[in-house]
Amino acid sequence: MQPLRTAAGKRAFVEKLLRWFALVMRPLPWRGNYEPYAVWISEIMLQQTRMERGVEYFKAWMHRFPDIRSVAEAREEAILAAWEGLGYYSRARNLHAAAKRIMAESHGIFPRFFKDIRALPGVGEYTAGAIAAIAFDDPVPAVDTNVMRVFARVCDIDIPLSDKAAKAYITETVRSLLSSGSPRLIIQGLMELGALVCRGIPNCGQCPVDAFCTARRLGVASARPPKKPKGAIVRLEMAAGILVRKGRILIRKRRPGGLWGGLWEFPGGNVGPGKSPEKALVRYLADETGITATIREKIAIVRHSYTTNRVVVHGYLCDVAGVLLPSFRDEERGKWVRIAEIDSYPFPAGHRKLLERLGWKEGGESASRR
Ligand code: SF4
Repeated sequence: MQPLRTAAGKRAFVEKLLRWFALVMRPLPWRGNYEPYAVWISEIMLQQTRMERGVEYFKAWMHRFPDIRSVAEAREEAILAAWEGLGYYSRARNLHAAAKRIMAESHGIFPRFFKDIRALPGVGEYTAGAIAAIAFDDPVPAVDTNVMRVFARVCDIDIPLSDKAAKAYITETVRSLLSSGSPRLIIQGLMELGALVCRGIPNCGQCPVDAFCTARRLGVASARPPKKPKGAIVRLEMAAGILVRKGRILIRKRRPGGLWGGLWEFPGGNVGPGKSPEKALVRYLADETGITATIREKIAIVRHSYTTNRVVVHGYLCDVAGVLLPSFRDEERGKWVRIAEIDSYPFPAGHRKLLERLGWKEGGESASRR
């Protein structure tokens, strides 16, 4: 067992880590010239997103928005549409706001130092640290869940990682390593170690730093970090109406803020426990939009999940009498759009699934005749 506490131990740890990282490093598209804009986009996209999916979205994003100016000048609709499917849309709105600020305050040049990066909308302590280290090779510790898991084991930390003391201890441990090599490579090497080897079930036989790992020596690696109790699952039932009239479909824009703020969806609302989704929908449309609708047919029941919520959406095709301009409450806005244009509007995952069930891309004519 080699101690990580001494300066020689830290150097040896970093040396083994970097030798291993040079061999296994994945060819991710932002690893090359480490352009700050690309590193920033990758860090925001990879929050709450699996790597394979993040890479796919990253490539499409860079094609659509090759620089900060193109993000700043885009309409919010285009930003949200490029983000659709990634969820947590506040990330996209913050990116948009940050790009506008960078254009206004520094002619499109990405901030060079941690404190200025941290001041951008949507950039927290971790993200600012990751950008400073990876884009600029600055000695700033960036501790994501992968890095936390690695050090919970290396240092045998037996309290949940949500505990501030655990995070502070790991952050200081990582900081103490950064003078032993390139911070850019050390931070990425630690992230890669957590992603590829020191996973939920650790593969200690393949680990380059096993000689430093206390949890492995004690035979408790799989029990670190201790799990924190899960939040209670919330189940929601909703009804949504797809109102079609003369080849157009009614959608509404959600008010700003919240999980899906600024996205579009089909009008509808919650269904109370034991209540009929059809009746709830017709009542909602009458009370909240002033539209008299009758249900033509049930299209689908779709399920989707976010954080601890499990949502079931009942989707109905509806006939509409008379009214063309619904009066939604608050800042929600309604709009009749051509079915052929519907793909250019960003939707939350559950409502996008309803659209897919309708198959309008292939069968638009049958719907437009209604
Ligand atoms: S020895 Fe095992 S538990 Fe320890 S850091 Fe390596 S992979 Fe993780």
